[in-house]
Amino acid sequence: MLANYFENAKELDFTCEEHKAKLLEAFKQVDAEKGNDYPLIIGGEKITTEKKITSINPGNKEVLGQVSSCSKELGDKAIETAYETFKTWSNTCIDERVRCVKRLVHLVDQNRYYLDAWNVLESGKNWGEADGELCEALDFFNSYAKFAEELDKGLELQPSNELTKAVYIPIGVGCIIPPWNFPFSIMAGMCVAALVTGNTFVCKPSSDTPITCYKFMELVKKAGFPDGAFNYIPGRGSDIGDSIVDHPLTRFINFTGSKEVGCRIFEHAAHVNEGQIWLKRVVAEMGGKNAIIVDSTADLKKAAQGVAGSAFTFQGQKCSACSRALVLADVYDDFVKELVAVTKEMTADQGEGRDNKTCGPVINQGSFDNVVKYIKIGEEEGTIACGGKYSDEKGFYLEPTIVTNVSKDARVANEEIFGPVCAVVKVNSFQEALDVANQTEYGLTGSVYSENRANIQQAKREFNVGNLYFNRKSTAAVVLNHPFGGVNMSGTDAKTGTRDYLQNFMCLKSITEDLD
Ligand code: NAP
Repeated sequence: MLANYFENAKELDFTCEEHKAKLLEAFKQVDAEKGNDYPLIIGGEKITTEKKITSINPGNKEVLGQVSSCSKELGDKAIETAYETFKTWSNTCIDERVRCVKRLVHLVDQNRYYLDAWNVLESGKNWGEADGELCEALDFFNSYAKFAEELDKGLELQPSNELTKAVYIPIGVGCIIPPWNFPFSIMAGMCVAALVTGNTFVCKPSSDTPITCYKFMELVKKAGFPDGAFNYIPGRGSDIGDSIVDHPLTRFINFTGSKEVGCRIFEHAAHVNEGQIWLKRVVAEMGGKNAIIVDSTADLKKAAQGVAGSAFTFQGQKCSACSRALVLADVYDDFVKELVAVTKEMTADQGEGRDNKTCGPVINQGSFDNVVKYIKIGEEEGTIACGGKYSDEKGFYLEPTIVTNVSKDARVANEEIFGPVCAVVKVNSFQEALDVANQTEYGLTGSVYSENRANIQQAKREFNVGNLYFNRKSTAAVVLNHPFGGVNMSGTDAKTGTRDYLQNFMCLKSITEDLD
């Protein structure tokens, strides 16, 4: 029974003085490491290169460290190393693999405050969001260990007069390419899914959050995974992305990030290169333009809290964030009033990027400029009902911004912004709300606030997203409760945190012996 699998990790309460004190202590430890250099890790060897990536705290633009940048040649070496190690790791029994994952759970938990502190400084999220991520990572590890054990039993077959079995086997070397917005949980979940199923990988972290990934790799080594099974190769996607994806020894790519990069990877992976003896598998979890429908029967206070919470926590930089509210005309004005009131309480934090406020910075200058561009588009396409101010003087801060009176075809209502901007669109019927919700190329998350059972049932059938919620926010998926992943241009619907997810990295081999 699922309930007996394991207990989901519990987030720390930072209003508790003990937890707060421990995190502040961890910040001191991180402070002492600021400015350090970090090497690549290939087959356990630490390799320093001349070319560097600089990791910056988006809250105050302080340099956190320099990370060696992988060249094409070193990327090739990492893939060849992973390929050699696959020969032994793929034959390592499930007990040993699970043992390493369990040790990793223990090590991550032991280093919890330290990892949270790095995440806060590198990604700009607040304490609770960082610790929530750590919990999600622990849940991924525990669930993948359990599901891998189950898959190891193979597929049940019909009895016959032959000796038959069907076993799940690992497939080879993966390129793990995570984003910066969940620099710990998404990255670590992608890595552990590959390892526990007997695969090996090269991991190219986001250039915005390479140190958080390095700290994780140190624990992966300590947990007992063999050198060469995990290879850490930071480098700009534009420098080494194509070459690691194209490599003939690459067997699969596990990517999470934007639609543009995901589509590029998909196209590159489809090409069969010289020396390649398989078709590559691609898991690509991509962007979204998530909508929340506010029906005439909705509890408007609750809906406003849900929309603001989904749109503005972590500055709207969650893939599941709400970026458009589709509101029935008869409750539009009342809803907007509620939404503005709730949002005004979430003022932009001008702190030093380690404060525990609701709204911190966006990730970098490029992202800041992009969101400013959309605020300006919003000014033309509608009315800025709240927010709209920004400054990149100290860090990359923007106020949570609501754009009202926009048409359903407005750019702010259809393009992914990935920042604290929410468009509010008026619709005349529940059917129109569903049509507008489904009109973008994406299909990641969605939510409906309604008390109308017929409308709720209709939305269950027709709202085309990977994760659909009712009378709650569209963010905060929990492992084992809400398998996560999008449809259409939001991704390959790989559904993280599930047994199905692991099967992306395995083949089913049917073995039969004649008994006559
Ligand atoms: P991104 O720009 O697509 O980058 C994602 C990763 O791809 C980074 O490691 C990046 O490296 C790398 N990359 C860039 N160009 C590449 C190339 N040509 N070949 C191979 N790799 C390449 O996305 P992001 O800005 O990090 O993340 C935000 C996006 O992710 C949003 O669209 C969000 O909706 C989406 N997201 C989706 C999910 C989901 O589950 N569906 C979850 C989280 C985020 P560099 O950093 O070096 O460029």
